[in-house]
Amino acid sequence: MSGDDYFIDTVIVGAGVIGVAIARELASRGLDVLVLDQEKAAGQHQSSRNSGVIHAGFYYSENSLKAKLCHEGKQQLYRFAEQRNIPHKRVGKIVVATEDRETAKLQTMQARAQACGITDVDMLTGAELRRMEPELTGAAGLWSPSTGVIDVMALLQALELDAASHGATFALSSRVLNLSRHKGHWSLTVDSGGSLTRLGCRVLINSAGIEAPQLAARIEDMPSNLIPESYLARGNFFTCQGGTPFSHLIYPLPGPIGLGVHLTLDLDGQAKFGPDVEMVDRISYDVDPQRADAFYSSIRTFWPGLKEGRLMPAYSGIRCKIGKPGDPQDWIIQTAATHGLEGLVNLFGIESPGMTCCLALAHSVAEQLAAEGLMREIR
Ligand SMILES: Cc1cc2nc3c(=O)[nH]c(=O)nc-3n(C[C@H](O)[C@H](O)[C@H](O)COP(=O)(O)OP(=O)(O)OC[C@H]3O[C@@H](n4cnc5c(N)ncnc54)[C@H](O)[C@@H]3O)c2cc1C
Repeated sequence: MSGDDYFIDTVIVGAGVIGVAIARELASRGLDVLVLDQEKAAGQHQSSRNSGVIHAGFYYSENSLKAKLCHEGKQQLYRFAEQRNIPHKRVGKIVVATEDRETAKLQTMQARAQACGITDVDMLTGAELRRMEPELTGAAGLWSPSTGVIDVMALLQALELDAASHGATFALSSRVLNLSRHKGHWSLTVDSGGSLTRLGCRVLINSAGIEAPQLAARIEDMPSNLIPESYLARGNFFTCQGGTPFSHLIYPLPGPIGLGVHLTLDLDGQAKFGPDVEMVDRISYDVDPQRADAFYSSIRTFWPGLKEGRLMPAYSGIRCKIGKPGDPQDWIIQTAATHGLEGLVNLFGIESPGMTCCLALAHSVAEQLAAEGLMREIR
């Protein structure tokens, strides 16, 4: 296209697990795809800074995108992990009600699970809880046997290899600055280590994670009223020296913003606790060791045996939240049907369980492009 240094059919901004899964899906359907990321390697933000849990999907309201894509996505992800030998484990998860009066909330969660088609979630009495996890304190529990853990970087690598085998290419250390429109095509200004390139494309996917709203604001003609309000909620993790006595994932009841400080186990059985919720105004991943105090008190509500001095700061991730704090919002997959800009897809607020849903979400994006007549095979 005139004025552009290069033209490629489809450009995806963001090489996190979502951008790469979309690249794999679109490239496998015959589109020429280029993925751009500002970092030196893929997956440096949310995709490598999460809990690595394959969620069952019972936290979300019945008709939400999160619930629908989590139900499909979990099954697709397990199948993909099995086919591609990606390390993973169906370790199972217990949500604990620490007091009798919280039991009704577990029943509500179970009813919501059933409404979403998740039929393997069962209530546990206090005695059943203690039989499964003798050191766990709780009045009742909710047992989800199909919740699991996965090696997220191995998943990302498998998606990248698949995408590349279908012809997708990756340009790292390439930050997209501005996006304008010329004669029905998109034109991107890309900064690669100080050198600026103009890149033209027909289909543009904004999969920039926590920076997606800011990127959308730099798209020419993008209606500002369709860019959701957003905020950053850092989640810190602490490891537990000397291990824990637990063999399942242990969650308290969810809070207004996160799922509550919970215990996850990695594939070697090593425990970590988190993520908590810390509002931040810029991207920084330092973990403040002082936050351990709040971790001790949260964890001791369900594991009173946790001894002082065992928690060590580990890492953090930043959730891309849309809406207002405490007012849970569904994901937004925004196409021309909403904003009127042909070929543009914005993905807003793809927080947890985004990793679980990466394959289902990629499929959904491809289907929406197809419905808008944009999936013509060009190779
Ligand atoms: C603390 C935490 C715990 C979580 N736990 C789980 C879990 O257990 N299970 C689960 O299913 N999900 C979990 N999630 C959610 C999951 O990690 C995300 O939904 C998923 O990683 C989102 O992937 P993404 O590709 O959209 O975003 P990201 O991985 O953040 O990728 C976005 C990419 O865009 C790039 N980018 C941004 N702006 C530009 C630009 N202008 N130019 C070029 N590149 C740009 C960034 O460098 C980045 O690589 C968790 C998230 C967090 C933060």
